Formats: sequence, C-alpha cells, structure tokens
Amino acid sequence: MAEAARPKMSRRCANHPQREAAWFCLKHSVAYCDECCRCPHPEGYCKYRSQCAIWQVCLESDRVDEVPLLPAKAP
Ligand SMILES: [Zn+2]
Repeated sequence: MAEAARPKMSRRCANHPQREAAWFCLKHSVAYCDECCRCPHPEGYCKYRSQCAIWQVCLESDRVDEVPLLPAKAP
C-alpha cells in the first residue's frame, strides 16, 4: 500500500536533517532539534514571540541576553 500523507508534525532539524525536529520557528518556518533550539534573531521583532516555545527555552537557558517583551521575574 502507498503511504498516506506524512504527518505535519514530522519535521527535520534545519541543521541536522537526520534528526527529528522538536522545535519550530513560526517566523522563519524553520525547525530545530533540541541541540539547535535557539531564536535565530533574538534582537529582532517577532510577532510570534509571545507564543514561541523556542523563545521560552532560550530565556530559561540564558541564551538570550535581552528580554524586550517580557517583564523581569521577581526573585
Ligand atoms: Zn539540530
């Protein structure tokens, strides 16, 4: 039997085609694996940022220095 359409969630990392991507940049339509998960343009405006999982991961892992849209967390 022929295969049906591939599931939309099955994407490959932009840097590692052999890896299944776990993250997806809505602005640039680029998928990343866990290792590559970071915002490609953190200094630029992104209308998807408030709902971007990549951005949240970057914030938590200190990969992003500036946090223009989110208030600083209270200690
Ligand atoms: Zn990767």
